[in-house]
Amino acid sequence: MPYRSRWIIDIPNVTLPTYIFTSPNAPLPATPLLIDANRPDTHYLSLSTYRLWSQRLAAGLRAAGLQPGDRVLLFSGNTIFFPVVVLGLSMAGGVFTGANPTYVARELAYQLSDSEARFLIASEESLDVALEAASIAGVGKDRVFVFDDGTQTLEGRGEDDIKRGVRHWSVLLADEETGRRFEWEDDGSEEVVNRTIALNYSSGTTGLPKGVMISHRNYVANTMQSIQFSEQNPDYEAKLARSRLLCFLPMYHAMAQASFVVWKPRCRVPCYIMPKFDFIQMLQNLERFRVTELAVAPPIAVALVKHPATRKYNLSSIESIGSGAAPLGREICAELERMWPEGRINVKQGWGMTELTCMGTNWDPTQYSGSYSVGELAANCEAKIAVDDEGKIEASTDERGEIWFRGPNVMKGYWKKPEATRETISPDGWLKTGDIAFVDENGKFYIVDRKKELIKVKGLQVAPAELEALLLEHPGVADAAVIGVNSEREGEVPRAYVVRSEGSLASAEEIIAFLDSKVSRPKRLAGGVKFLEAIPKNPSGKIQRQKLREMVKAESGTK
Ligand code: AMP
Repeated sequence: MPYRSRWIIDIPNVTLPTYIFTSPNAPLPATPLLIDANRPDTHYLSLSTYRLWSQRLAAGLRAAGLQPGDRVLLFSGNTIFFPVVVLGLSMAGGVFTGANPTYVARELAYQLSDSEARFLIASEESLDVALEAASIAGVGKDRVFVFDDGTQTLEGRGEDDIKRGVRHWSVLLADEETGRRFEWEDDGSEEVVNRTIALNYSSGTTGLPKGVMISHRNYVANTMQSIQFSEQNPDYEAKLARSRLLCFLPMYHAMAQASFVVWKPRCRVPCYIMPKFDFIQMLQNLERFRVTELAVAPPIAVALVKHPATRKYNLSSIESIGSGAAPLGREICAELERMWPEGRINVKQGWGMTELTCMGTNWDPTQYSGSYSVGELAANCEAKIAVDDEGKIEASTDERGEIWFRGPNVMKGYWKKPEATRETISPDGWLKTGDIAFVDENGKFYIVDRKKELIKVKGLQVAPAELEALLLEHPGVADAAVIGVNSEREGEVPRAYVVRSEGSLASAEEIIAFLDSKVSRPKRLAGGVKFLEAIPKNPSGKIQRQKLREMVKAESGTK
């Protein structure tokens, strides 16, 4: 029997803009909500202006020829206008897709081509990479726009600004009056709420990154599921009223997107937005803004515990800490808890994936977590721990298997990849997560391993298939396989197993340098290169990654 959440909640048939802003013209608070952490007094949006800017963008995009379902790619670090692009697109009937701002041109070109984006909006500092990618993908300069850190946009400048032949994105913003009058489509129908509004890229269980189709409904459901957990706290309303958050994780990724574009604005919680992660600045901002809730990825939790600078800052405002995106050991959680008076903080882990909009399991805040468990199932969700590949045999309590997940937050499928979708979602709606877990007698989930090939470097996705294809471009490489190996600082890092081509003397250093020039930092081979006579494969030619993982274990004596 599948595990079922203990909650069933009513998820209304509304679009994401209606869920966050109620309607196109209802009065909304004018207090600071999305706040630039570097200029908090002058650069911010309220819920009311968040809506207005989104409406202006929606009207402007339509005027610029955006058709229903068209994709727009945002290539930028975080700014207070990042959420405006996501919501503006959803109001216009378009689809948002965000790329990692540290991507090199080849990586961005892949996403541009794969998503068939109509427009590319790129931050000023990434413009060179953006233009190179646009040229590779055959996207003309007239479809590229420059984003800014919010200064020019807020001050109404930028419209005449043309950088290297590229117009400023404010030409896509209709005037205020037109924006105010813009009404997004929302007739409460299934058809409208099931429309795709975001393509968040993930490699899933195998292969190259794919566009995960997320609908209005997925987003509304997953936000309500998150709120359902928080509401278990009898002090919920009071806690919400004093909440202040800091965003330092990247908004192109599901975790920060779900929190800072949707959930926290919907709950009217002020969020201070940092353009990118910087450990010391994060500490300064936590102290300065008296942040109450901390959402981290494991490497940040590790840094908080190990870095001597942590002790120099007053972090006494923090009331709760949650971690997600990759596994975090209980020892680190315990060390982190010791930084506050006894019993004040219980570090809790949630589990999720891009294919689940963001979150799949989390903790009831009234319960104590004394383990590495990722908590219980979100409202309206079911899961089974599948022992066989067909999901027919289910594990019993404490027994391991793959998590199969079903619920309203499960993606619609992969963009233009029906086969990958069929491999990942069963005909009766179970998403095969590729994560190995067990469930204890209290219904708490524990992630113990990963069946899928995905590597997580500092919480970011790295797809082995992408690196393997690149390695094969090296003339000295006849065959290659990439797996993740443990790293104390980064969680996991990629390592390549390489078969040299005949007569090749290619060294590990040469191969590492070859790849360095083609990929963004998390994908570099920080786990080294090892040479083999042959890559272990099954009869159908599939790489037997488990055999490689066993070699790593044997090497480190942890078998
Ligand atoms: P992403 O789609 O980038 O969010 O990556 C999702 C994957 O990250 C999951 O399928 C897991 O393999 C891993 N992951 C996320 N949260 C956790 C967690 N709390 N513990 C272990 N692995 C996690």
